[in-house]
Amino acid sequence: MPNKKIEATENKLTVFCKGGCLGASLFRWVRRNLMPKDTPSMAKNKMRRSLVAIYDPPPSNTEVNQLWNYFKSRCAYCGVEIERKSRTGHLDHLVPSSEGGRNNIHNQALSCAHCNGDEKREEPWDSFLAKKAQSSSVYNERKTKIENWLSLAPQSIKNKELIDEAACIIKEALDNFEHAVNKMRVLRNKSTQPLYGPRLSSKNLP
Ligand SMILES: [Zn+2]
Repeated sequence: MPNKKIEATENKLTVFCKGGCLGASLFRWVRRNLMPKDTPSMAKNKMRRSLVAIYDPPPSNTEVNQLWNYFKSRCAYCGVEIERKSRTGHLDHLVPSSEGGRNNIHNQALSCAHCNGDEKREEPWDSFLAKKAQSSSVYNERKTKIENWLSLAPQSIKNKELIDEAACIIKEALDNFEHAVNKMRVLRNKSTQPLYGPRLSSKNLP
């Protein structure tokens, strides 16, 4: 939802609350105006995400805890300490997903928001690390730490054939869904046509 629309909605809600109309009617208004509707495009996105998660699941909470412990709550690149509760710690893909890197925990390094969000972008992790480390000894120490973590990832961490096959399966499922949506729309249009065609106006009468 665009920001302006959210602001307008919040303003309306504020006025509504000041008027004292709380309870069930407010809940109905919020549901009608703020809750997302079940649209085909939302369903498609959810379908895509759930299919990807079967073959390439996100790390479990236990695995994320292991990662925080391994990197000692410090950014793998710049070494800054990250307060976990601040929610500024990012999981950064070492082999990027654009190159087929998977979500396995050992393909991810703990990163501060600054390194991951603002600086590294699509840069390979080792050349980015070389820029962030203040000396060659710090660079070597952090590089070894990351490499040891990455070495525990499964062999299929970057498997083009598997990725292509998964992409085909997902495309097939989404195409089938799109086809069903189109058939439903045709059915809806048929069901809303008037029973006896357009009404004749007096002008059309002989
Ligand atoms: Zn950092």
